[in-house]
Amino acid sequence: MRVDYSFTPDAPWQFLMALNASYMFIPQLTELERIPAPPPLNYSWRPKDNALDQEVREACVSHLRRLADEWINSGRWGDVDSPLERELNSELRWILNVWAGANKPDITFDKSGNTVLQMPPIEIDYKSPVAAAKNAAVLLFGVFLDTPFRSRLFKCQQCKIYYYTERKPRGPIKYGTYCSLHRHAASARRSNEQRRGPEHERKLDLAAQCWKRWPKRMTDKGQQAEWVAAEVNRRLDRVYSEIKRNWVTRNRAAIASRTPQGLFIRPVPADARCRPATGEI
Ligand SMILES: [Zn+2]
Repeated sequence: MRVDYSFTPDAPWQFLMALNASYMFIPQLTELERIPAPPPLNYSWRPKDNALDQEVREACVSHLRRLADEWINSGRWGDVDSPLERELNSELRWILNVWAGANKPDITFDKSGNTVLQMPPIEIDYKSPVAAAKNAAVLLFGVFLDTPFRSRLFKCQQCKIYYYTERKPRGPIKYGTYCSLHRHAASARRSNEQRRGPEHERKLDLAAQCWKRWPKRMTDKGQQAEWVAAEVNRRLDRVYSEIKRNWVTRNRAAIASRTPQGLFIRPVPADARCRPATGEI
């Protein structure tokens, strides 16, 4: 029942799975009992006390998350995540050092003569399994810290799942951290937010005004979009970029339902954007 947690290449993955509450990867810290099962095994194991087992696993996960969150947050300022600047705060250092003092990792030498730190096995204590679960979490975290994954661990801001990036980030991450499932949704939302700026509002306003001026004798919808785009561009403030027909099509619902606000528009000469306005002649 003693698991050797000396460093192995899959230790960071075990840490990640346990962090995401994948119970298979959380050490078994309560007593098991043998129960009959169909052949060929004829028996299997299950926790003697299911409620206690659940409580212990939850304690392990919540302690792991506390450690991981503190670690991730040490490199966060507002929305900017700087994984290369993460460091242990005094509380985390205290937790790890108390653990190291009590559990005394061993030093051994491998064949090539390198010094190897041998982590002690997870302590199993049936009398106080919750404390043992917290200890196990510190061990998993300590092993994780000794790997390159320390700067590749992130928490999705949408679903709160923990994940590793494929490579070590080169610098700060400015637009939030999201898992592969939510990365796309987040970038779509970001560009939507950028679109809803004053420039977008101004264009919608102008388009709503021009939309109503569409000469009734013309009925082709595609031509209407093209005509509105041209009319908007003639009136558009020079600092803003011109719009195209598909901008009008994309925003048609917003344009049609909009009551124009802001500046009232006057009819402008066809070449207004090429020549400064000279007033009425
Ligand atoms: Zn996510």
